[in-house]
Amino acid sequence: MGVSENIKHFLSKEIPSNVKLIAVSKTKPIDVILKAYQSGYKIFGENKVQELADKYNDLPKDIEWHMIGHVQSNKVKYIAPFVSLIHGVDSVKLLKVINKEGEKNNRKINCLLQFHIAKEETKFGLSLEEANEFLISEDFKNLNNINICGVMGMATYTENDDTIRSEFKELVYIFNELKIVHFSNNDFKEISMGMSGDYKIAIEEGATIVRIGSLLFGARNYIK
Ligand SMILES: *Cc1c(COP(=O)(O)O)cnc(C)c1O
Repeated sequence: MGVSENIKHFLSKEIPSNVKLIAVSKTKPIDVILKAYQSGYKIFGENKVQELADKYNDLPKDIEWHMIGHVQSNKVKYIAPFVSLIHGVDSVKLLKVINKEGEKNNRKINCLLQFHIAKEETKFGLSLEEANEFLISEDFKNLNNINICGVMGMATYTENDDTIRSEFKELVYIFNELKIVHFSNNDFKEISMGMSGDYKIAIEEGATIVRIGSLLFGARNYIK
């Protein structure tokens, strides 16, 4: 099956209609993405700033682009004009830079706070304590060009479903805590969790956004 058929299958059979599917197109060439676009799907995700900026330039402008990977502060400017949602905001410093770039582009940039829920040390993310501390600070109140829409997390890469499930539960707990304490607005509503290997568990646990690459596009080949 091709990418378009895979996406159709996912939308009709795998994912409830209230869960958003990000088709993760990282490492995949323009023509493959364009085919999926032409079959009607317009929501794609990338994990590298440069690749995202290049693909934005080369593809139709009504694509909804999601930045799902780690973002370095000095690179925010390349995606600030068009990015639909930045999933991996993992520091106060980054949030401030995003706000500044939002200001320059005269827009509010949608962000998710990334939390460290996995056992692996390599995965990025805030702790609940760090987020709480920042969200009550004066610094935060002055950020008018960002819109924090929810949380994002990545579970440990493991075959153990119980581990994955408990990590997703932790992210949902964090989401609920933050919502109660800091966000009375309805914009704070997204829980981005679940990839090809663990999206089913993520949906069972309450994901509102899943980020799926290899099950739609096939395995990635990093050797060019
Ligand atoms: C690559 C990536 C995905 C998609 O991974 P698959 O296992 O191919 O579905 C999801 N989220 C992030 C942050 C990624 O980097």
